[in-house]
Amino acid sequence: MSETQKPDHVRLFIPGPIEVRKEILDEQAKWMIGHRSSDFEALFARVQPKLRQVFYTNSRVYVSTSSGSGLWEAASRNLIRDDRKVLHLVNGAFSERWADVSRVNGKKVDVIEVEWGKAIKPEQLAEQLKKEHYDAVAIVLNETSTGVKNPLEEYVPIIKQYPDTLIMVDAVSIFGGYKIDFDGLGLDVVLTSTQKALALPPGLAFGAVSDKALERAKQVPYRGFYFDFLELEKFVVKNNTPTTPNISLMFATDKQLDYILAEGLENRFARHEQMAQAVRNWAAQNGFEMFPEKGYESPTVGVVANTRNIDFPALNKHLKSYGATINDGYGNLKGKTFRIATMGDVSVAEVEALLKVMSEYLERVPAQA
Ligand SMILES: *Cc1c(COP(=O)(O)O)cnc(C)c1O
Repeated sequence: MSETQKPDHVRLFIPGPIEVRKEILDEQAKWMIGHRSSDFEALFARVQPKLRQVFYTNSRVYVSTSSGSGLWEAASRNLIRDDRKVLHLVNGAFSERWADVSRVNGKKVDVIEVEWGKAIKPEQLAEQLKKEHYDAVAIVLNETSTGVKNPLEEYVPIIKQYPDTLIMVDAVSIFGGYKIDFDGLGLDVVLTSTQKALALPPGLAFGAVSDKALERAKQVPYRGFYFDFLELEKFVVKNNTPTTPNISLMFATDKQLDYILAEGLENRFARHEQMAQAVRNWAAQNGFEMFPEKGYESPTVGVVANTRNIDFPALNKHLKSYGATINDGYGNLKGKTFRIATMGDVSVAEVEALLKVMSEYLERVPAQA
């Protein structure tokens, strides 16, 4: 887009919701169908195998009309027995909040907590698992508040030494931009929302759930109503949902998954890594450091440490006139960091164009004292 042309909308380079292509937005304007109709069952049956491909699973994928947080509650409620504990790995705002979700659902919670910006190391996990038995370990793969991607693949063999300890993964801000091999790794719950790297509007959450997780749910008496896995299971086998789903967004999901699979999952993941690398290069070339510990930078959320002490709101205001927006730091990191989401259907060239506008702006505007 040229600088003189007035943008028709502001493209979101924030970690959700993100830019959704017009064609996908338009899918939501289709005429309604009843959710107990054969048309809906056909829609669900089209979406389900495509979701399974993106999750790399032959297991079921539940479709929840909620945001991703709903499936946090689902995972905690269905997998943790009353007299047992869950271990939460905490290194940012989202992992902290999931631990709170377990607590407010009456679960007994232990945490391994490290400073924001750091990843939780496999050795720390190994040590804790030697000390205590857990019904599940809760992992936020991609901490959106800090831009840290935790080493899930390295945790798995450690947790697998304890066959009774299930693995639940929040993949919300990375799913669709990074390979998560549900069956290959042997995960028990992986949950995500539509409005992040899947590049759909907000309003649905998807959760892959293992047979082992379902067996566990049978041992938990009070699983609640809305997110009860055993109830969701009764309906998923009939290509349906227990309660009225967001049908419009299901139409959009159907089309978007075709688009994602046509791009090719491996290509899509490689493009995400390239976009993230462009942000890392930009930071280095413009006198900034990345906030995350080296080697653990996210492929979808670039968190840049504001080492040059720029006036972030002024930069973002400038970007808005260009037709894009990025994000300030999360919570306590506001002012200290800023975040550029490189997820969804945007191209490497579009990310590079955005970064160029940022560099040109920063050259004109001197740093603050
Ligand atoms: C956005 C986000 C959530 C919350 O998802 P909602 O869909 O807003 O409920 C949870 N975890 C992570 C890592 C996120 O980035």
